[in-house]
Amino acid sequence: NLFSPYVLLNKTDEPKSKTKEMEYFLRLLNYSRPDCLPLGGAFLFLTFALIGEVFIPYYMGRVIDILSTEYKESDFLMAMLSMAVFSITSSIFAGCRGGLFMFSLSRLTKRLRLLLFRSVVQQEISFFETTKSGEIVSRLSNDTARVSRSIAGNVNITIRMLVKCLGVYSFMFSLSWQLTLLTFISSPITWIIQKLYSSYHQDLVQKVQESIAKSSDVAKEIIESVKTVHSFAAEEEEAKRYEKSLQETHELQTRRDFVTAFYLLATRIVNLMTQVAMLLYGQYLIQSGFITSGKMVSFILYQMESGDYIRTLVHMLSEITHSAGAAQKVFQYMDRTPQVSPAGSLCPDDLHGQIEFKNVTFYYPSRLDVPVLKDISFTLHPGRVTALVGPSGGGKTTCVSLLERFYEPQEGNILLDGKPLNEYKHEYLHSKVALVAQEPILFAGSVRENIVYGCENITEEQIKEAARKAKAEDFISGMEKSYDSDVGDSGAQLSAGQKQRVALARALARNPKLLILDEASSCLDADTEQQIQQCLQNILGLSVLIIAHRLRTVQKADQIIVLKDGCLVEHGTHDELVKQKGEYYGLLQGNLLENKEVN
Ligand code: ADP
Ligand code: MG
Repeated sequence: NLFSPYVLLNKTDEPKSKTKEMEYFLRLLNYSRPDCLPLGGAFLFLTFALIGEVFIPYYMGRVIDILSTEYKESDFLMAMLSMAVFSITSSIFAGCRGGLFMFSLSRLTKRLRLLLFRSVVQQEISFFETTKSGEIVSRLSNDTARVSRSIAGNVNITIRMLVKCLGVYSFMFSLSWQLTLLTFISSPITWIIQKLYSSYHQDLVQKVQESIAKSSDVAKEIIESVKTVHSFAAEEEEAKRYEKSLQETHELQTRRDFVTAFYLLATRIVNLMTQVAMLLYGQYLIQSGFITSGKMVSFILYQMESGDYIRTLVHMLSEITHSAGAAQKVFQYMDRTPQVSPAGSLCPDDLHGQIEFKNVTFYYPSRLDVPVLKDISFTLHPGRVTALVGPSGGGKTTCVSLLERFYEPQEGNILLDGKPLNEYKHEYLHSKVALVAQEPILFAGSVRENIVYGCENITEEQIKEAARKAKAEDFISGMEKSYDSDVGDSGAQLSAGQKQRVALARALARNPKLLILDEASSCLDADTEQQIQQCLQNILGLSVLIIAHRLRTVQKADQIIVLKDGCLVEHGTHDELVKQKGEYYGLLQGNLLENKEVN
């Protein structure tokens, strides 16, 4: 099928992936459905514009014939006028086509980006641990744009081929069928060159894309950790590392461009030879009176144009091969189902907030050889404070991650009021279980925006109340614009302790049943920490799970759980555990619990 360049030209070795590409294409067409009106209009204009274009060489030949034979002014003016009308209208149509086209294209890109983003943010946490954020961002920004350009490009090229082939070749045949047949001789050679080119080019394009993604990853990583880079004076080293990745991209790009240049050269030579043959034969035809010189000129113009659109076609071909890869990348993430069991729909009005770990064993998906938690069982009682202590790497943060459903335990169960966590609605669970993480993340924006993050209907009074409980009120009102002060990118304008307090206010603002503090006051001075704890204990019905290093924070807890190497080794109140003279006592002796520095 000559008029379906997508199928025809897409160089792939196995037919399996050809059907895949067709599938992508149809799917993209489906995504463009909301834009069928502007797109339809664009293609209508495209057709009109092409019809106009096709007539121009014909009139050029006419003008030459009028000039070189018996000159009649009225004929000449008529031919000139027709030519002007055709070229002006076709330019206008081309302009309209371009406008509508870009409009639909940008809408399609927007739609694809949003769909992809929706799918990506729903993925489980280990997906983000094993996937570079640069890769995700590149798919979101580059691949989506490439994909939508390709869909439009494919339909565009099909229509262009249809109209132009029909128009140009019917003119050519009517001018001279002998010359037309002659131009076909070069087709197989051009075809072979194209085949060779696309197989090399496709491969290189893929490599270039990967290499670009890799070097953006490098840059991203360096920029994100710029403080560390500065403090180790490693700027030059990092620049060299980045340079190395740039160099690789550059080399691949050069190779790709060489292949393209060589291809262009070869096709131009073939084209030139065809033209020479055509001129020689044309000269014979003119001498023998078969055609006029004006018709010969028209014919040459048509022939050149046909060469032109074969070249555009091949350009599109590389664009299409880009886009088949890009489409695959976009759809791969768009279709990915999160590897955690879907959340249920439970939203009970009267939640007590009792949490039960029952024989939980857990391995990180990225490291399935060592269990991080081994057969852990404990209960968090409503309205009580539980402290989780133990040497670093013992699995405390991992318990928190399981409570947040970042991961799921391979064995055992975590129950909230007697029901497995995954039976609760996602939004509900996270409004009842609030976390202040070990390294709290704030978003660029105001203090207020950060506190209300994730809960829309919250009053000004509740915001202030949460800030007060988190002992953040003083420093917030001390800031220039109070609650409207900017916190900077990821909260960079706040100190570590201030960030922790804003994060705590954010957690409290949603009025949770269970509050998890993962070393959340490690950057506060002991007094402030004490005041906050006092405050939290007075919130009615709030259970607190606290992970802390300081003895003072831990010792008043209703129960203390000691985790070591993924095992629950001790369990009781401060006094009980001190009497036992076991692991906890050892931690006290070794000052492991108290030694945390205050920044
Ligand atoms: P703690 O909070 O008690 O210091 P963690 O729960 O953070 O300890 O870590 C427990 C163990 O799990 C450590 O050995 C750590 O290396 C490992 N670990 C933590 N996070 C991950 C992760 N995302 N992927 C793989 N292993 C991890
Ligand atoms: Mg930790």
